[in-house]
Amino acid sequence: MKKILLTAIIALTMATAGARDYNFNEMTYTPKATQFLLNTNDDAQEVVLRIYDAGKDGNMIKKVNMKRDKKIAGEWHATVKGDLKGRFYTFDVKYNGVFAGENPGIFAKAVGVNGRRGAIIDMAETNPEGWDIGRRSPLIALGDHIIYEMHHRDFSIDPSSGLQYKGKFLALTEPKAIEYLKTLGVNTIHILPSYDYASIDEEHLEQNRYNWGYDPLNYNVPEGGYSTNPYDPATRIREFKMMVQALHNAGIQVVLDVVYNHTYSIDDGNFQRTCPDAFYRKNPDGSWSNGSGCGNETASDQEIMRAYMLASVKYWMDEYGIDGFRFDLMGVHDIETMNAIADMVHEQFPQSLIYGEGWSAGGCAIPNERLGMKANMKQMPGIAAFSDDLRDALRGPWDGDDKAAFLGGVPGYEESIKFGIAGASLHPQIDYSKVNYSKEPFANNPNQMIAYVSCHDDMCLVDRLRASIPNLTTKDLIKLDLMAQTAVFTSQGIPFMLSGEEMLRDKKGVHNSYESPDSINHLDWNNLNRYPQVFEYYKNLIALRKNHVAFKMGGMPQSNILAQHLEFLPGGDCLVVYRYKDLKVLGDSWNDIIVILNGNNERRTVKLPKSTYTIVGDGDVINEQGLYTITTDEIIVPARSAIIMHD
Ligand code: CA
Repeated sequence: MKKILLTAIIALTMATAGARDYNFNEMTYTPKATQFLLNTNDDAQEVVLRIYDAGKDGNMIKKVNMKRDKKIAGEWHATVKGDLKGRFYTFDVKYNGVFAGENPGIFAKAVGVNGRRGAIIDMAETNPEGWDIGRRSPLIALGDHIIYEMHHRDFSIDPSSGLQYKGKFLALTEPKAIEYLKTLGVNTIHILPSYDYASIDEEHLEQNRYNWGYDPLNYNVPEGGYSTNPYDPATRIREFKMMVQALHNAGIQVVLDVVYNHTYSIDDGNFQRTCPDAFYRKNPDGSWSNGSGCGNETASDQEIMRAYMLASVKYWMDEYGIDGFRFDLMGVHDIETMNAIADMVHEQFPQSLIYGEGWSAGGCAIPNERLGMKANMKQMPGIAAFSDDLRDALRGPWDGDDKAAFLGGVPGYEESIKFGIAGASLHPQIDYSKVNYSKEPFANNPNQMIAYVSCHDDMCLVDRLRASIPNLTTKDLIKLDLMAQTAVFTSQGIPFMLSGEEMLRDKKGVHNSYESPDSINHLDWNNLNRYPQVFEYYKNLIALRKNHVAFKMGGMPQSNILAQHLEFLPGGDCLVVYRYKDLKVLGDSWNDIIVILNGNNERRTVKLPKSTYTIVGDGDVINEQGLYTITTDEIIVPARSAIIMHD
């Protein structure tokens, strides 16, 4: 606690020591006049504002020289009289005698098609009916989140989805979609990048191009390609809000995937044209540092980028009712900024979910000790990180799709599985020297670990199982798939699943499907009829987790709670056995829960404390009421299967 307080005091001191108070309200509309404001570097010489009658092409109807603020260096203003609603605008900043080029500013809240001009709209008119009520989030304790990572096109684009608004925000307002998600039991929808990104031509949506969207253009505007009309600036905003509203009304939170770590381009990008070099890190030789692996890396450690990230996150919460945030390549951002964001968000909504990838995709220009890396998570107590330890212990290492691990019967990953079950937290029975990546617990408590086996990156689970395990039958594929998720959902970490795993999706073996066609990325809803037991198992597994506090000790105050209530029983190669015990004092309806994961392609006999056990999960079926009861001190676990039981 002392350490946290000290960090907070340092952060506060730094924030007040000469920091500029950035105002990012670049456009404020009233029917009488519209005010414009732009932040530039101090040495900007001129800023020209242009007003257009169209989001692209059309006619320029006004050109205004903005005025330098009298007190704040680098802040520029203009007020244009008259009702400008429906018009568009650009800024153009002059440095060293040269104009950098027109752009919509760095904090446009509405844009024309393809995001090249800002749009003048009345934000109040974008609110759907009943918005004030609809935006109110359901309260979900951290350990109770069931995260469902979804791409808008994946989910709804295929005719088999039966949804009307295919590939659109509005698909998630349709009763069929809402009912589906509620039946599955997920309560937190993590939407892949949904801000305005560059790689889809919004003027040619009929081409049906696909992209994940990790190429940010305008951070504070919804993507036009997911709206029914990208030409009308208000439509994408209203439809995004309708999506949030419908999910909230169904008791589901919305997590936004935010990609502040890099931009689509530098030289013709909004940041660089407005504030040259201020938003990016450079190498000592003057070249751009590339910690994102995408050609550049932003500089959260710099005042303007930190202020920008804080303002942007707050804007998505306040304007759109976003509940939580997933930080892409969090390891590119500095710890201080991440903590400042978490503090700000949690001051407003104490239970908000903030998590990220605790790594970068290349070396960054500031030392790893300062960055939001997994190894530094203990310094970021309000934030969770993905556990690649658990993921790779199950499916196999990241550097080869054909490499198997626990699920493929490869021994040596047992301690890494246990590490994941204990939520990357301290447990006396884990030998951390044998964990695949982390050689010590990275989390203060399990609420700081995201448990998962697959996400949009890399192969999805079905493809990875097929690629890494030769001659796998569909029957065994399903058993292993279900066992993998059993580990995830009975772990103390916060469970996370890729959309469509519950219908045994595949991507035809494509490793990186970021721009693969719909035929690769789509969910085939016919699979629900082909493999009904898969959906049924996921649904029952999720319900099991929800119904038992045993799996969610991260939020409980006692510091030694895991040591008291989680015990690893003797297992063996590719055999992990754990018991959540003495649960009645925690308020669970069951006193002991035993989970057995057998990754071997042979059955195994497991010794148990002698008792009468009710088996609730066996192979491809879960029934919380009990499948059968046995009085025994040992149990035979079938090959490639999980068993869940209680006494
Ligand atoms: Ca776009």
